[in-house]
Amino acid sequence: MATRVGFVGVGVMGKLMAINLLKHHHQVTVFDLNPAAYDELRELGAETAASSAEAAAAGDVVITMLPSSPHVEEAVLGPGGILDGMRPGTVLIDMSTIDPLVSKRVAEQVTARGFRMLDAPVSGGSVGARDATLTIMVGGPADLFAECKPLLEAMGKNVIHCGESGMGEVVKVVNNLIAGVSMAVTAEAYNIGLRAGADPKVLYEVISKSSGRCWSHDLNHPYPGVIPSAPANNDYEPGFMGDLMRKDLGLAGSAAQGVKAPAIRAAVAEQLFGAASNTGYARHDMSAVVKAIQAFSGPDGAD
Ligand code: NAD
Repeated sequence: MATRVGFVGVGVMGKLMAINLLKHHHQVTVFDLNPAAYDELRELGAETAASSAEAAAAGDVVITMLPSSPHVEEAVLGPGGILDGMRPGTVLIDMSTIDPLVSKRVAEQVTARGFRMLDAPVSGGSVGARDATLTIMVGGPADLFAECKPLLEAMGKNVIHCGESGMGEVVKVVNNLIAGVSMAVTAEAYNIGLRAGADPKVLYEVISKSSGRCWSHDLNHPYPGVIPSAPANNDYEPGFMGDLMRKDLGLAGSAAQGVKAPAIRAAVAEQLFGAASNTGYARHDMSAVVKAIQAFSGPDGAD
């Protein structure tokens, strides 16, 4: 059944997700502070709104796909924001990756105003967003999840209920902690191996069949020329941007702090991704973290 959707945040991910909703014949009204995607979306049948409140007023469901916690807080709770535009019965689904505690707080305020909300961050990058193969991790009431699942399935292949409000974000930041740390350590391991004279293709052949294998190594390899699908072959064009990984590692750290757990690898990896970002790789694929590791190593053969 067609749903009226207000879609706030049509950047790299949101634009592709909104297109998939249009392909499923949903009525989509978009708003973004940056109108770069408007022409393409209008051509595909979307309406555009003049504010996030106006987009919210046009939907039975409002989806947000924004950079991080402050953007979601401002767009949802700020004056003239989404909450001010929502009509009775409208559901809010925040698909951004944000701090789980902020997500929970926003959900409490949304609920206090008489509305229902899910957090539904995604994994799978822009390719998953384009092909509607995202994994979508959902937090919030089970009955609301069941109600919204068909709509979410227009954008993703694995739509999984993770628990109460904020739990989608918990699962997402924990997943990205593994992805970020394993990318940093893959880069570190190959840097050592190559400097010691190993052939990267031989390393790959062995590790992809051994206990060191992981997604970052097998599918998103940080060295060019090792596997055909890697962003490294294309000057690290993302993919998933390094700055987003840096943000997500920070979110993992604050989630850990909230439950008094250590996040030692998260802190180290966050520093490495930060170093890559600060030296010109912020908007490159996260596998460009290898550039920071290479820079720390100095020239080959130096003592
Ligand atoms: P993006 O920066 O390309 O898009 C975000 C959009 O939000 C921008 O167009 C920006 O103008 C808009 N925006 C910011 N504040 C706004 C506001 N108050 N009102 C309206 N629009 C506003 O980011 P993205 O890559 O699309 O990522 C979005 C979210 O998805 C992030 O939380 C990110 O961590 C997560 N994510 C991204 C990827 C990826 O591969 N890019 C993968 C998984 C998850």
